[in-house]
Amino acid sequence: MTAELKLDAREHVPPFPQLCRYLSERSPRPMVAVDGTTHVVSYANPAFAELAGREVKQLLGRPFAEAVPEGADNGCLALLDRVFRTGVPDNLAEQEHRQSQTRPIYWSYAMWPILGADERPVGVMIQVTDATDTAHFRQQAVAMNESLLVSATRQHELTEVAESLSARLEAAVRARDHFLAVLSHELRNPLAAFSSGLQLLTLAREDREVAENSREMMERQLKQMVRLVDDLLDVSRIRTGKLELHKERVELASVVRDAVEAIRAFIDGRGHELTVVLPSGPVLLDADSARLTQVFLNLLNNAAKYSEPCQSIRLTARLDGGEVEVSVQDHGIGIPAAKLPHIFEAFMQVDTSWQRTQGGIGIGLSLVKEFVELHGGRVEAHSMGLGQGSEFLVRLPVAVGDVSDPAATAENPRGPVRRILVVDDNRDAVASLAMILKMMGHEVRTANDGEAAVAVAAEYRPRLVLMDLGMPKVDGYEAARRMRAQPWGAELFLVAVTGWGAEEDRRRTHDGGFDSHLVKPVDMDTLRRLIAEMPINAS
Ligand code: ADP
Repeated sequence: MTAELKLDAREHVPPFPQLCRYLSERSPRPMVAVDGTTHVVSYANPAFAELAGREVKQLLGRPFAEAVPEGADNGCLALLDRVFRTGVPDNLAEQEHRQSQTRPIYWSYAMWPILGADERPVGVMIQVTDATDTAHFRQQAVAMNESLLVSATRQHELTEVAESLSARLEAAVRARDHFLAVLSHELRNPLAAFSSGLQLLTLAREDREVAENSREMMERQLKQMVRLVDDLLDVSRIRTGKLELHKERVELASVVRDAVEAIRAFIDGRGHELTVVLPSGPVLLDADSARLTQVFLNLLNNAAKYSEPCQSIRLTARLDGGEVEVSVQDHGIGIPAAKLPHIFEAFMQVDTSWQRTQGGIGIGLSLVKEFVELHGGRVEAHSMGLGQGSEFLVRLPVAVGDVSDPAATAENPRGPVRRILVVDDNRDAVASLAMILKMMGHEVRTANDGEAAVAVAAEYRPRLVLMDLGMPKVDGYEAARRMRAQPWGAELFLVAVTGWGAEEDRRRTHDGGFDSHLVKPVDMDTLRRLIAEMPINAS
């Protein structure tokens, strides 16, 4: 076919029909002419044959649809009919032609009518373009756009998360700063009271009443500080998962009694009237009585603190199925509804000027919640709003069975007189502890180091030894070991008295043969209880 199309070199311009044919035969653009009604191919150039993967002669006289089988579905044949019918040229872009081994192939079509002698269409000229690359680029661009959109959305989400984290961090930092400010304020108060108390003691050497008053005031402040530090230690133990409960069978009445005793002076001091109503029979709990006492102590303390002087406070308990519900109710300043859902969060304080003057560091209620939940119970706060009083409800599972702890059931008036040995290298500490124990009615001897302690014990045979741990030469651990090694040592009730109160410290003294562990400064109520609850044998 190309041979017959060679142009005569001597002719500069070939005749027009020959030129046209030459152009279409040599054109790199695939072209086909089809009959307008039958779609039969009347002409196809080599470029189209190559694109269609056939010989030109395989195409001629055959329906165009054989080369473009997808034409019926993708609108190519419909376009062909339309162009033929209307005589208006038209295009169809990027239609999938077929799947190659690696990727789909796309064709684009441009069609224009072939007009007959009367200017009416007799056929259609079709120019086909391989649009595979363009289509793939476009698809990639779309996919890229989509993924950009996705990553923009993701980035937006991440920004939101980062913003909320940074807001929470800022809030946490603010809460920490606020807490430190409140804590320093709360520590400064008792320290200031201490400093003036000491000055008063110096000035009032002769005036016993003044001296006694300042001593009492300092004792109150000291108790407050010890409680504060204990609460802080509990928070840190809870946060590090190191808080252990020492559960035993106890009676609710004895826990409530301990809490009321501990808070009595404060409640009386503010002129409140406290009513306690408990079920008539014993209510048994499997509980760590010290922790549960702290729960009711904190609730009663708040009820007294957040009520105007001379109000009434009620603690009532009632059995409800397998649970006991204890309510601590006051007629005080109440809690605004917006703060109620957060009231058990650590460091949460309702920010009114009244409450700011009441003292406290905002951890009491969070400990209440933790302790109650550790006992398998739950706690709720209710208030109708500011000025409407508050009610805290503690629900605890009731234990079934007998009371096994005699100290929990019966009042233990004074208990038997004990022979006690107090050991401490600090002479003031020994002297004051010995004096208190004597005032409680016990017999007391003292020693100032471990060696002396073992010697005194061998001769005095105490029932109880209160032993400091850090002492020169023979320390408390070694003295305890030596005492336990004696025939009389097994019966001793050995109590470590130390400034270290962490769980590891307690474990160490327990492993060292001590029966109990008290943290300095020793709380008198705790000491009294410890002595009352010691196993009843030789005294
Ligand atoms: P603190 O009393 O040391 O501030 P708490 O954790 O015991 O901390 O209590 C948190 C806050 O809850 C208090 O600061 C107070 O605003 C509020 N609150 C607790 N108990 C009562 C109550 N009985 N009446 C009114 N407000 C209370």
